[in-house]
Amino acid sequence: MGSMKRSTSCRILAAVGGLEAKLERNSTTTFVMSLVIPVLCLLCVPFLVYRRPTLEWLQTIRVTAGIGSVESPEDKSLGGLLPPGFDESSCLSRYQAALYRKASPHKPSPFLVEKLRRYEALHRKCGPNTELYNRSIQQLESDHSTGPMECNYVVWIPHYGLGNRVMSIVSGFLYALLNDKVLLIHVDQDMEDLFCEPFPDTSWVLPKDFPIENLGEFEGDATLSYGKLIRDKIINNDMRFATKVTLPAYVYLHLPWYSKEWDRLFYCEDAQQMLRKIPWLLLRTDEYFVPSLFLVDEYAEDLQQLFPERTTVFHHLVRYLFHPTNTVWGYVMRYYQGYLAKADERIGIQIRIFPLVPIPFETMLNQIINCTLSQHILPAIDPQEPAAAPSNAAKVKAVLVTNLNSGYHDRLRDMYYEHSTTTGEVITVHQPSHEKQQYTDQRSHNVKAWSEITLLSFSDVLVTTAWSTFGYVAQGLGGLKPWILPRHPRPGVACVQAVSTEACFHAPPDYDCKARKGGADLSAVAPFVRHCEDVEVGLKLFD
Ligand code: GDP
Repeated sequence: MGSMKRSTSCRILAAVGGLEAKLERNSTTTFVMSLVIPVLCLLCVPFLVYRRPTLEWLQTIRVTAGIGSVESPEDKSLGGLLPPGFDESSCLSRYQAALYRKASPHKPSPFLVEKLRRYEALHRKCGPNTELYNRSIQQLESDHSTGPMECNYVVWIPHYGLGNRVMSIVSGFLYALLNDKVLLIHVDQDMEDLFCEPFPDTSWVLPKDFPIENLGEFEGDATLSYGKLIRDKIINNDMRFATKVTLPAYVYLHLPWYSKEWDRLFYCEDAQQMLRKIPWLLLRTDEYFVPSLFLVDEYAEDLQQLFPERTTVFHHLVRYLFHPTNTVWGYVMRYYQGYLAKADERIGIQIRIFPLVPIPFETMLNQIINCTLSQHILPAIDPQEPAAAPSNAAKVKAVLVTNLNSGYHDRLRDMYYEHSTTTGEVITVHQPSHEKQQYTDQRSHNVKAWSEITLLSFSDVLVTTAWSTFGYVAQGLGGLKPWILPRHPRPGVACVQAVSTEACFHAPPDYDCKARKGGADLSAVAPFVRHCEDVEVGLKLFD
């Protein structure tokens, strides 16, 4: 459509040019033409103004206006975060998504950029079906190990919904980065064609012929579960000092929110050192356990250099790793161009009702309205002026609602359809899907969830629901400090703004590794780790 409009406007300009040439030859028509040309030029204006934004055009505009997250039209790498060497057409979102997001004021540190390039080289060297990968697989099949190999792996196993999966992949990746291990992800049919490959010339997908089967069924009682092996004294963390030792061929790290104290010893420094000796680690978690890595002394220096701004860990890593595939990008762009692109401002409202913690519909609706009105995110309606029509210059705010049901969307839409606003602004309300239930085992359902997370990340202002990792991913990708709808709002406080884009570690350990004491509150052990705004028991990084 864009190219059609452009060629139409070119034809009109060419016609005007032709008329000018004729004018020189025929002076008798000068007077008539002096009237016709301005009119034709005016006719051209809409075609010039409303041409569909091509990539280059958008980049120039954003940079000129100082609102782009890219530093210059050429810098598609987000300050060096994204690696060169990709075929752009194979994953359009990788370089295009930033054009639709608010500017990120956070630059990745040179140390992070360098570390990522070194990681990518390691992944190429050790990735699936390389000689070194095959050698490590042979070791795995031998049922024992004697220490680290040239290539050592973290195999990520999915758990729960898409947001939880992203949380745990980011955590597993940082853990791998700090330990020079290679991250491979187990992609079942339900996750196929959602995420582009993040590392050039290799793959992060665990090959289908990986010798350990039924990864999705691993639980805390698995034979080679780290917590169980420690509890039963089959291994101990002092093995980290041994020069000659026989260890299991792999260890399973069981770290979902319901993991036990023994499993969570993983977060202590001695465990981290011991686990470096084991070439294969299988990781199953739904958690963002990054704050715990910051509590391990040994990582402190590296982490300080990688992330001089601690609260940008999630923002940088989620933007580095997660790019919608062209299939998902098609959903995102169709919806964005159709419903959101023309608005002056975009507001994302992510509403998550957890089945185990139900909230009455009207209670939640009131909280959303109180939040958005009290924080001037949306204008109040004017009950006195039901018939007032907006002026042509009225500002349009598009609200993107995401929820498994359509009720909140319908009520907000009706509110702004039936009434004018006190500010004269026009509010449009949109919701891409209402899937009714979570169907994480269905790929088409996950495509919609991932598309909606991506669309939320394009918001200028984001409102999220407490405890929801779905919202965290959108805030991390968008570099947004969301307005959080708390689970138990204080009277008169419908929402609170997060101080950063960081995510929350919902179920942190309560074992103080240094004091060797259980029942501890780890928010007290370091000034940069505190409880989260939305989850009182959770841990989060602060600057
Ligand atoms: P959390 O449970 O809120 O932390 O987020 P998760 O993403 O881990 O799990 C919730 C899952 O439910 C999502 O991944 C989706 O499958 C589904 N879901 C929840 N809310 C929405 C929504 O607003 N839109 C869509 N399409 N799916 C949703």
